[in-house]
Order: sequence, then structure tokens, then C-alpha cells
Amino acid sequence: MRKLIIAVDGPAGSGKSTVARGVATRLGYTYIDSGAMYRAVAWKMREEGVDPADARAVTCIARQIRLEFRPVEGQQHLFVDGVDVSEAIRAPEISRLSSIVSAIPGVRQAMVQQQRRIGAGGGVVMEGRDIGTVVFPHADLKIYLDAALEERARRRCAELQSRGTACSYQEVLREMVERDARDKSRAHSPLRPAPDAVRIDTTGLTAEQVIDRIVDLARERQGNR
Ligand code: C5P
Repeated sequence: MRKLIIAVDGPAGSGKSTVARGVATRLGYTYIDSGAMYRAVAWKMREEGVDPADARAVTCIARQIRLEFRPVEGQQHLFVDGVDVSEAIRAPEISRLSSIVSAIPGVRQAMVQQQRRIGAGGGVVMEGRDIGTVVFPHADLKIYLDAALEERARRRCAELQSRGTACSYQEVLREMVERDARDKSRAHSPLRPAPDAVRIDTTGLTAEQVIDRIVDLARERQGNR
């Protein structure tokens, strides 16, 4: 069977992570969370006390950072220069900072290079904002997930609560609107569906339903070429 490159893009809370992880498990593919890589840059920047407005210094961090996805007890963890940051990068402050640093062209260039290297051999499901448009414009299958804003905010709140982080729905909603606007309006690689992406509105659908649909599409494409 040919090993596909599957791109899953969409805004925060659209269900990308759960769905992309599920598709990868079902197909026996590697799952890559490209957002975690931007979060890692934001985390390192804060650790080093670098100002997010200092594009040169942040780019320097993105070029030097050593990122490694490694399984820990069946879950994929992200290590930054040997430190497991998987929990730390989910903090709301890091969500905000990651969307600021991801607008810096030098940061994007460094991350895209690493993402292409990781996915080059195929057999990968990569989720993010620009995977189908910029990272892998020739991906075998491109999915663009979206959902109603209120549902996305509800999901994000539930996710934070499941990690033991207190959550105010109104605050999450406000932060999400702000982050989406920044991700969609930036000059470099803004969030938008690739023209050849299959769009799925996940409002009211279960993760399993969405995963089934994507796995069916993947099997079709595997057989087609
Ligand atoms: O997907 P996640 O919410 O973890 O991504 C965090 C931030 O990283 C996003 O708000 C976005 O600004 C940035 N990002 C990006 N390109 C990607 C993935 C994430 O710009 N491919």
C-alpha cells in the first residue's frame, strides 16, 4: 500500500488533534502536531525571557531549537532540547504567544523545513494551519476542519478542564476569536483552506464519525493512484 501524506488544517478547537491522531492510529501512520512545534518555540522564548516583538531573537530560537516527538506510555510527547514540554505548552498563555511567534516569517521557515523533513517519506498525518497550502501543497489528501465558534470554545474548555486547568468559557471564546483572527490575517501562510481540500464541518459530529470519513477518503486515494 502506498503511504500517503495527509494534511489536516483548521482553526483552534475544530477537532484537528483528536481526528488527526485517530486517523493516524487507524492507518498505522505517524501523527504530527505542527502546532506543538510553534508552541515549543513560544515556550522556549518565554523560558529565555525573549521579547515576542524581537523577531530576530525569536527566529534565532526557532532555528536552534531541538524538537523531538517521542512516545511516552503510548502518548506522543514533545521534547525541547531534551525537556518534556508536552504539558507546559498547553497553557493558555502559550496558546496566545504561539500565535504571535508563528506570524514571524523566519520562525515559519524554520518550522516548515523540519515538518517537511519529518513527513517526506509519507505515512504521516500532519495537522496545523498551513499543511495543505504551504508545507505539503502536493499532499495526497487534504482535509479542512471547521466548526461553530461556540462549539469550538466548548471543546477547548473541556480539554483544559480535563487537564486540570480552570477554565472560563467567555475567556476561552475571546482568546479563540483573537487567535483565529491573527492566524487568518497574517501576511505569511495565513490559515485558509487549500482549494483542493475536502471541507468538513464537525459541528454536531462525533470524532469517530469524522475519522471514519477521512479513513474512507484515504483508502480511496490509496487505491486510486
Ligand atoms: O494547533 P494549535 O492550536 O496547537 O497551534 C498553536 C498556534 O500555532 C496556532 O494558533 C497558530 O498560530 C500556530 N500554527 C501555525 N501553523 C501551523 C500550526 C500552528 O501557525 N501549521
